[in-house]
Amino acid sequence: MVFGINGTSDDRFEIDMLKWKYVTVLGRLPTSCSVVQCDGPFHATAHVMLDDGRRSDAWFLVPQCKLCNNHSRNGCRMALRKNAALVSVQEVRRVPDSAARETKSHSKSDSHEED
Ligand SMILES: [Zn+2]
Repeated sequence: MVFGINGTSDDRFEIDMLKWKYVTVLGRLPTSCSVVQCDGPFHATAHVMLDDGRRSDAWFLVPQCKLCNNHSRNGCRMALRKNAALVSVQEVRRVPDSAARETKSHSKSDSHEED
């Protein structure tokens, strides 16, 4: 399955909150990048749009490593693993900031924050 990936103009704080809202919806902390043939660690949530031949306006979030996230910010298209942990952006936006902070504080031990 191939997705077209686009960068975002969100500021750093919002991206950090977005990451934890994504983890809150998913219910677990992803450990690795979702790009095919990449073994990088989960560093950021990337905005992706389904590109399967049928145009869709639905945005999803997937875990990516730093390198792949940089590629996606540059507008590169990347193939994602079939079992990539897709979460719809709409669903993530419904999560309150407080819930995301809660998830973040509970996940410190297995998190690899570099910021
Ligand atoms: Zn990667």
